Amino acid sequence: MNMGEDKMAEAVEQLAGAIVEKYAGEKFALIGLRSRGDEVALRLKSQLEAKGVELDFGILDISLYRDDLNHLSANPKLQASEISFAVDGAKVILVDDVLFTGRTVRSAIDALMDYGRPAGVELAVLVDRGHRELPIEPNYVGISIETERLDDVVVHLKNTDGVDEILVHRA
Ligand code: 5GP
Ligand code: MG
Repeated sequence: MNMGEDKMAEAVEQLAGAIVEKYAGEKFALIGLRSRGDEVALRLKSQLEAKGVELDFGILDISLYRDDLNHLSANPKLQASEISFAVDGAKVILVDDVLFTGRTVRSAIDALMDYGRPAGVELAVLVDRGHRELPIEPNYVGISIETERLDDVVVHLKNTDGVDEILVHRA
């Protein structure tokens, strides 16, 4: 299954539309999970702003919170998180490119709580590929793709990779 620019635009539009409908004038924040989730979040941000929506924006790096982080692996790269608005009382939508086991999102929620006590947290993902290992489900999904556990969903985004495409590499 190969999806190109049109399908990607459709998926982002789908996410933006669902979020606008839900928040209808209410303030919220998008927080992208580095890396690639931040780029998806930026795409969503510009789509939403084009619709006249005002929102806070941030980036979360959860490399140090992953519960399967291998302590033997040298120098895990930690880029700074960028959250410059008050998380206390905020309605937050976490944004990632691919949702798989749910462990990254669990860690992201953990990391977010270090910034304050949000009034609510939701999850938007560009691709849901299934195989959850935790009770975590997305509120907004761009594309659902049925995968085998060992498959790899390749997500290329224009700003990082020069091209918009989603490919499934079957194991
Ligand atoms: P999880 O923690 O839910 O198992 O995996 C989600 C995180 O790992 C996301 O941040 C995502 O970027 C990455 N990820 C997991 N599976 C895939 C995949 O098949 N393709 C891509 N591109 N990223 C994946
Ligand atoms: Mg990621």
